[in-house]
Amino acid sequence: MLLRFALTLLVIMLVGRAIWRVLSGIVEGASPSRGARRGGPPERGVQMVRDPVCGTFLPPSSAITLAERGGAVRYFCSEKCRNEYAARS
Ligand SMILES: [Zn+2]
Repeated sequence: MLLRFALTLLVIMLVGRAIWRVLSGIVEGASPSRGARRGGPPERGVQMVRDPVCGTFLPPSSAITLAERGGAVRYFCSEKCRNEYAARS
């Protein structure tokens, strides 16, 4: 009688632990704040500019600029792209 009670308790504990593990696994998998969001688009709301040579989008603060004769400003990812653009036009 006592052995049966002990076995039942053991089974309940094992089942409970398995259920808990599954539940916590689901919670962990569903939570997005586990390093997965890092490396996403940086600084939302910042207006990105496009390099017309290679098509890279980058924030104006880290872009190389070129003022065109008409007054427009072009943004480039590198001096290489800027030189290429300047040589084209
Ligand atoms: Zn570029």
